[in-house]
Amino acid sequence: MFDTHTHCMHSHDSRQNPKELIEKAIKMGLEYIAITDHYDGELTFLPEFDYIPQIDLDRHFKEIAELKEQYKDKIEVGVGIECGYMKEAEKLYLDTLKNYDIDMTINSIHTIEYEDCYLPSYFEKRTKYQAYLVYLQAVRESIDAPYHYDSIGHIGYVIRKSIYDDISLNYSDYSDLIDDILKNIISKGKALEINTHSEGTGLDFLPSVEITKRYKELGGELLTFGSDAHKFEHLCRGYDKSCEVLKSLGFKYLFKYLNHKPIAVKI
Ligand SMILES: [Zn+2]
Ligand SMILES: [Zn+2]
Repeated sequence: MFDTHTHCMHSHDSRQNPKELIEKAIKMGLEYIAITDHYDGELTFLPEFDYIPQIDLDRHFKEIAELKEQYKDKIEVGVGIECGYMKEAEKLYLDTLKNYDIDMTINSIHTIEYEDCYLPSYFEKRTKYQAYLVYLQAVRESIDAPYHYDSIGHIGYVIRKSIYDDISLNYSDYSDLIDDILKNIISKGKALEINTHSEGTGLDFLPSVEITKRYKELGGELLTFGSDAHKFEHLCRGYDKSCEVLKSLGFKYLFKYLNHKPIAVKI
């Protein structure tokens, strides 16, 4: 087992001690864990989110690199980061990330049209179709990000806090756009993330099985597994079930990243 998407107290929304996280991973028999704390550079362009503290990049990359070295005989630790994509933040990420040795960078959408889609207000002013459409358009834009990233995080994130009676994001409603997203992930050599932080969505993981299946049909092979754990109890959640589903779709491998290089792990 391994996990390419976890958070520790270097993220504003986690209190998890990174050492404790790694020790739990060793106890669980994981061969690899990437610690991918939030770099919410997009929020620096949104004054209403001033209250959310920004990650201390120097501290994060230094401390995780030290832990990687310290635990190297017991587990592979990936030094990681999760960038919150927004067009305006591209230059910031481009200028800062190049200063660090990074194993794994996740590119994720958390804000859409300058709003946080974790808040009900995002949905209240839009129809479901519109709310999901602009989300998917943002995902599409994020794939063209000019900085070095490895995977596209949690496609379908918009449904996590969705307020509609039927929250499902159906492939058929946006098939051209979703195909465009998947084809570009493939042609750019990026990975699609299987994210099991999906409580309340009715799904085993994000994106939906339907979208993951389509990725396979279009020739997609690069997949990462991420629990998106913000505390150690959630490490590798849903790993076995996800592997079962992925195998039934014809996938044979998941990928972990070291120095931005994908390494296949048989499932
Ligand atoms: Zn995220
Ligand atoms: Zn995350």
